[in-house]
Amino acid sequence: MSEIIQPATNVPTGPEVVQKSAPTPLTPPPPPEGWRIDLLQKFPKLKWLVKQRWFQFAVILPNLILFIMFLMAGIWGSPVGNRNIIIVFVWILWWFLLISIMVPFFSRIWCTICPFPFFGEWMQRGSLTTPKLARPGTKDKKVGLNRYWGLNLRWPKALSNIWVQDFSFLALCTFSAFYLTRPLVSTIVLGALIVVATILPLIFRQRVFCNYICPVSGFLSLYSMASMTEVRSRDYNVCLKCHDKSCLVGNEKGWGCPWFNFPSKMERNNYCGLCMECVKSCPHDNMTVRLRPFASDTKIKGYDEAFKAFIMLSLALAYSVIYLGPWGIFKSLANMQLGVPAFIEYAIALWSIPVVVVPGLFSIVHWISRKFAGGQPKPWKESFLMMVYPLVPLGLLAWIAFSLPLIFVNGSYILMTLSDPFGWGWNLFHTAHIPWTPLFAHWMPLVQVILMAIGLALALKATFKQAGKLYSNAKESIRFAAPMAIFMTGIVILFVQLYAN
Ligand code: SF4
Ligand code: SF4
Ligand code: SF4
Repeated sequence: MSEIIQPATNVPTGPEVVQKSAPTPLTPPPPPEGWRIDLLQKFPKLKWLVKQRWFQFAVILPNLILFIMFLMAGIWGSPVGNRNIIIVFVWILWWFLLISIMVPFFSRIWCTICPFPFFGEWMQRGSLTTPKLARPGTKDKKVGLNRYWGLNLRWPKALSNIWVQDFSFLALCTFSAFYLTRPLVSTIVLGALIVVATILPLIFRQRVFCNYICPVSGFLSLYSMASMTEVRSRDYNVCLKCHDKSCLVGNEKGWGCPWFNFPSKMERNNYCGLCMECVKSCPHDNMTVRLRPFASDTKIKGYDEAFKAFIMLSLALAYSVIYLGPWGIFKSLANMQLGVPAFIEYAIALWSIPVVVVPGLFSIVHWISRKFAGGQPKPWKESFLMMVYPLVPLGLLAWIAFSLPLIFVNGSYILMTLSDPFGWGWNLFHTAHIPWTPLFAHWMPLVQVILMAIGLALALKATFKQAGKLYSNAKESIRFAAPMAIFMTGIVILFVQLYAN
């Protein structure tokens, strides 16, 4: 997570901030590969909108109201999962929209409208919309130039990575059968996350919950690398001459980046929550939102991120077996219907696939690749992380393939619960009693296989491209990529076998 920086205590401004936050201030980020379309230049109304101070509050508020209603439905609504809006809207509709539309096309736009950090950030800032400035020379001046309430402690360095998110996500997935089907358990899980997201900002500076704890954040950060939208600085030469660095330290127009990025140097989407503060605060109008080709960010920066890729791909396969496969025994195991010892065995198996089996196999294949390529290999860690990247487009497509049947097969529940959100017998829109009608069920396997084929094509392209960056000799690079390509193909064959049957 090297572009995440924690502004130093008593950060004043200008070059000193840059020196403390970005060790190589004169090194521009590498030029982007492929085309870019500056959306804020092309659509002035969009620019006007995201520059308004009320923008984020306005998009979070409806979501927050809905979310509170979902939590209430979990407590007072029907205990039957598919008759309760919290289950149907959160775990079917939201999940589908998130993984199939928001992340691939709009990066972490969910984080722009997410209600989880709302209360914590409100208390930390002491303001809903207007940025507050610290009084010069006071103790308030702890994080850049804005004033924040609370202790403003630094997050421990040892935890400044996504390991917590890796394992908290895995833990949540282990118990998924409980909250995916039981409204009350969903309310408890989501409610607990909101409580943590509210308390942490009073202790630690800015969005530590989002950067280091939120279980959703880990895969959003990983798969936003593939997204077609990015926030970036337009011209780094402008940044070089800029003494304010307001995108980092904040000013009266915007808060310093709440996600600990130095926006002007940002070169990946991973930890940008699309909050638009840097677009507002930059006095030189140098931050913008751009459209770009799919799968443009290719740098995995640490083993924590690599493990996220292993976890996500493994869970896509495991979930496909458990929730889409014909074997009822897996659902019973996940639901603890076969007893606690059987559930423990299930949990051990579920954890060992992403933590031991897939990384172990990947390491062996990577070792074979290096031997097969010959020549002068790059350091192990460098080539390992570079070859993990192809799992990003592959994993994302695998999750889309898993999620598609959820929405088409269970879509009628959305209309039912829209009319009767609590399962109390209401019929608000006259859709409460429509029969359950799975859509395009016969076509699903074909669509899933096509999605996996697209994922494989993207992964193979990325594999050979990454290998080309590691080996300047074409023959060596092809030999290096070949075992990896076989490994990726083997994974896709597993998915295809499952979906086609
Ligand atoms: S990181 Fe998590 S809590 Fe933070 S905005 Fe994104 S989804 Fe919401
Ligand atoms: S993005 Fe704007 S505020 Fe940030 S360094 Fe560049 S010019 Fe300065
Ligand atoms: S301030 Fe800019 S770089 Fe930081 S999270 Fe918000 S949009 Fe992303």
